[in-house]
Amino acid sequence: MKILSVNAGSSSLKFTLIELPSREVIASGLFEKIGIDGSCYTIKYNGEKIVKEVELKDHSVAVSKLIEELLANKIVASLDEIEGIGHRILHGGSEFTKSLLLDDSVLERISKYNELGPLHNPANITGVKAFMKVLPNVPNVGVFDTTFHQTMSEEEYLYPVPMEWYTEYGIRKYGFHGTSHRFINKSISEYLNRNDLKVISCHIGNGGSICAINGGNVVDTTMGFTPLAGIMMGTRSGDIDPSIIPFVMKKTGKTAEEVVNDLNKKSGLLGISGISSDSRDVEEAALKGDKRAILAQNMYAQKIANYIAMYNNLLNGADVIVFTAGVGENSKNMRKMIIERIQSLGVKIDDDKNDFRGEFRLISTDDSKIPVYVIPTNEELMIALDTMELISK
Ligand code: AMP
Repeated sequence: MKILSVNAGSSSLKFTLIELPSREVIASGLFEKIGIDGSCYTIKYNGEKIVKEVELKDHSVAVSKLIEELLANKIVASLDEIEGIGHRILHGGSEFTKSLLLDDSVLERISKYNELGPLHNPANITGVKAFMKVLPNVPNVGVFDTTFHQTMSEEEYLYPVPMEWYTEYGIRKYGFHGTSHRFINKSISEYLNRNDLKVISCHIGNGGSICAINGGNVVDTTMGFTPLAGIMMGTRSGDIDPSIIPFVMKKTGKTAEEVVNDLNKKSGLLGISGISSDSRDVEEAALKGDKRAILAQNMYAQKIANYIAMYNNLLNGADVIVFTAGVGENSKNMRKMIIERIQSLGVKIDDDKNDFRGEFRLISTDDSKIPVYVIPTNEELMIALDTMELISK
């Protein structure tokens, strides 16, 4: 069975065509600058790469081009081979607790959460509608970033603010990266053949979040009402004192939106290092002795370590810690820096085992109190698996 896994942004559309149950990636690609000048696409399949610059007026045109290329290059012999399309959707509010089949009425319900994810949700819905238009007979499934976190208890998801903010406006912790944390939990649970594991999943990429999972249920996660909260990230501040916002507004004359934009786009590794949001650049500068880069790396590692220690307490002792995403999968130095900061938990890194990137491996010593793994995340596969399950019912 072939399933398309799709992530539509406001001007982009990323796809992976996956064969199930073998999990083989048949093709993948990216349509960029949709609706703006310089639009183009890249499709990779079977060792080949197609790169074209063409006008992509809207998402439907991009989807039509994708279909055209799949057929022209015999990636699929006929469109009937595509049995389902799974879509990443950022926000399902408190309403959507599982992935589900999409139709017009479900899309209408999802659009209620557009104001909670204004950059992503409308774009995700546009992507779904484009596929519905071009491939009207293929079922579409929505897979939300928020659903995995829906098992959090009130104690964890409520903020200690006036209760009306929650009851009237839905202000609570939602959490994000749910599909990645769910994939990590599934992978490590299958690998260790246990369904009662207490897992601390550390998704550290350009965005980052940590998730405490007990037997498949999320107990707490670091992102909040929006993906700005929690640990320090590439360009995002993570947790700060909210009083800073009106103070900076007064000092600079900026609007609240402008200050929040600075917290989203000019903070984190970039803000502190003054060099880059990319951990590779910061690491390189730190190795050359750049003081701000060293400071940025230390802060980054410490904030992650603090949450790991906190979640170990919340879980009353974790069974396993997992690193994933761009930094977690690839940066042995950052993994080491983080683990050195949780020595009080009896966690120990094995430098030889840690000397690699991008694979499923154990990196802790035999006598480490909590084993630590690196697992490459695969949100596209998770989306495809949910899609297969729902369309097979
Ligand atoms: P993601 O958002 O998951 O794609 O992760 C992006 C982050 O991963 C960026 O900060 C990259 O610098 C980081 N990254 C990717 N490859 C490496 C690598 N080989 N070493 C260190 N960091 C890496």
